[in-house]
Amino acid sequence: MTMPERKALRIVFPGDVVGVAEEFIAGDGLEERDGFIYATRPGLLEVNMYTRTAYVLFHKPVKIPRKGDRVLARITNVERNLIYVKVFALESKKGVLPLDLSGYLIPPPGRRLRKEDIIRAKVVSPSTPLILELSEPDLGIIFTICPNCLSELRLSGSRLVCRNCGHTERRKIAKNNWFKRVRRS
Ligand SMILES: [Zn+2]
Repeated sequence: MTMPERKALRIVFPGDVVGVAEEFIAGDGLEERDGFIYATRPGLLEVNMYTRTAYVLFHKPVKIPRKGDRVLARITNVERNLIYVKVFALESKKGVLPLDLSGYLIPPPGRRLRKEDIIRAKVVSPSTPLILELSEPDLGIIFTICPNCLSELRLSGSRLVCRNCGHTERRKIAKNNWFKRVRRS
């Protein structure tokens, strides 16, 4: 009997460098460019050490989130009264579990959200379809791009700043270090 394979999952965002081409083969959700491997979608990175292949997991729902659970989601469409999301991860005691479920976000009053924002949210529906909300301080945006030039926005104090075009804005950011702080040179 072989030991079950231990999988270290970590959250990646589009554009993240996840390794170099000599380390492993770029599978689903990854691409190789100039010797580096980049994530092309948000999700959970899995590296299979036997086949030396890495993927961004997408289609392996392990568990259905329940009311009160924290999830990570990508905003797919924004309408006046409804925001459509794809939930790609569930926080659990065992770590972050991959998911691929559609759902809705209750629009926070006065808070702007845009397509492709990535959020940490709380589930408020008892089952599917998942309904999410952002009312607590550690819920909100964890990754977003500049509306002018599509560069990644960085957190500077309580504002988001684009280092490419100088755009700044205040958004509903998830507090307590949930907002992405990965340095890229
Ligand atoms: Zn910009």
